[in-house]
Amino acid sequence: MLKQFTGLLSPKTKNLKLLYSLIRKLGPVRINTLSEITGYKHVTCTRLLDELVQEGLIYDSGIGESSGGRKPLMYVIKPDAYYLIGVEITNLYTTVLLLDLKLDIVDVEKLRMDSQCTGEYTLNFVSRCVDELLSKHNIQREKLLGIGMGVLDPIDKETGVFLNPLLFPAGGWDNLNIVDYLQQYHNSPVFIDNGTNLAALAEYRKNYWKETDNLVFVSSDMGIRCGTILQGRLVRQNMEMDDTLGHMVVDIHGRRCLCGSYGCLQAYSSLPAIRNEVVRRLKRGHNSILQDSVKDTEDTDFHHILNALEQEDPLCLDVLKDAAYYFGVGLSNLILLLRPDIVVCGGTLVPKPLFYEVASETAQNRLLHYPKSQVQIIKSIAAYNIVAQGAGCMVLDFFTEEILP
Ligand SMILES: [Zn+2]
Repeated sequence: MLKQFTGLLSPKTKNLKLLYSLIRKLGPVRINTLSEITGYKHVTCTRLLDELVQEGLIYDSGIGESSGGRKPLMYVIKPDAYYLIGVEITNLYTTVLLLDLKLDIVDVEKLRMDSQCTGEYTLNFVSRCVDELLSKHNIQREKLLGIGMGVLDPIDKETGVFLNPLLFPAGGWDNLNIVDYLQQYHNSPVFIDNGTNLAALAEYRKNYWKETDNLVFVSSDMGIRCGTILQGRLVRQNMEMDDTLGHMVVDIHGRRCLCGSYGCLQAYSSLPAIRNEVVRRLKRGHNSILQDSVKDTEDTDFHHILNALEQEDPLCLDVLKDAAYYFGVGLSNLILLLRPDIVVCGGTLVPKPLFYEVASETAQNRLLHYPKSQVQIIKSIAAYNIVAQGAGCMVLDFFTEEILP
C-alpha cells in the first residue's frame, strides 16, 4: 500500500498516508494523540488505523501503560513492511545498504574503487548487490520500495551524469546517466541527491526528528559542506554548488583560495588546507615529530598529521586549533543565517577531539549576543554509512512525507 501513497490520492488514501507519516515520526503513539493532531474523530481514526494494521504497515507495540483500565494501543510502523536500498558512490568506495523502514541497516556491501571500477562496472556491482541482498534475506522484489543514491561529487541532476568524472580512479563515467541505468535494470524508482544533504536527512529522521524541524549538518573533508533541514524539509540546492560553505569568506585579507578568492573557509579548515599549513610551518623550521617520521616535508599527508596529533605534536595541534577557530567563525555565520536548533558535526575532521571543542566554543562565543537562542552543536555519532542511510530515507520520504502538516 505504501506504493499507492504518491500521485493523485483519494481523500481516504490521503488520510491513511497522513496517519502513517505521523506514526513514523512519533511512534510509539496513541490514537488520542493522532486524533488530536489530525482532527479526525476517534472513530474515524480507529477505522483508518485498523486498515493500516490490516495492510501490515503498522502494529501495536504493546508498550502502552494502563492507567487503570485497558492498556492503550501504542502504534509504530512495521519496519519490514517494505525495504529500501541506499547507495553511496564516491571515488574511494561504493556502498550499498539494505535498509528496513526504520532506516536500520539489514546488510551492507562495499566496493573499494580502483582502476577497474569504471562507471558500468560500478553500476553493475550496485545492481548485483540489490539482487543478491534481496535474495539472501528472502525479500520479494515487490517489497523493494526503491533505490536512493548519494554522491559527493557534483552531478547534473537533469541528466544524472557526473560533472567531473576525472575524480574517479577509472573512466567510463562521461555521459553515463546513473539514475536511468539503475532504473532500467530494476524497474524501481531511483532517486539521487547530494551526499551531505542525505547525511543531514538521515541524522534528522533517525536522531532528531522529534526534537526539532531545523537542523544543519556540516562536514569538512577535502571540501567543506553543509546540508540543511528547514521546517522539516530538506533544502535541495544546486548540486553543482555542494561545497559552497567552504567558500564563505572568513577573512577578507586572508589566504588565497583555490577558487581565486581570498580568505575562504576552505583555505583554513579543509584537510588540504591543514596539510598545506603544516608543510609550510615545517619548511620554516618549526619543531615537530613529523621531522622524524617524514623524510621530505612535501610527502606529509593527512594520516601523518592525524598520527602526530595523537602524540600531541605541538605544531600539528597549533595548526588544527587555528583551522578549528576559523571553522567556528564559519559555523557562527551559518547559524546566524539559518538559525537552526541543532548543528550536527560530521565528516572526517569536524567530530575529532580538539577540532570539535575549539570550533563549537568559537561558534557559541560569537552567538552570545543572543543568549536565549540555544543552538546545540553536536558531534555526529553515525559511522561511515550515514549518506547511504539518507539515500534510503529519501526513497521512503518520497512516498510518505509530502503532506505532513
Ligand atoms: Zn574559495
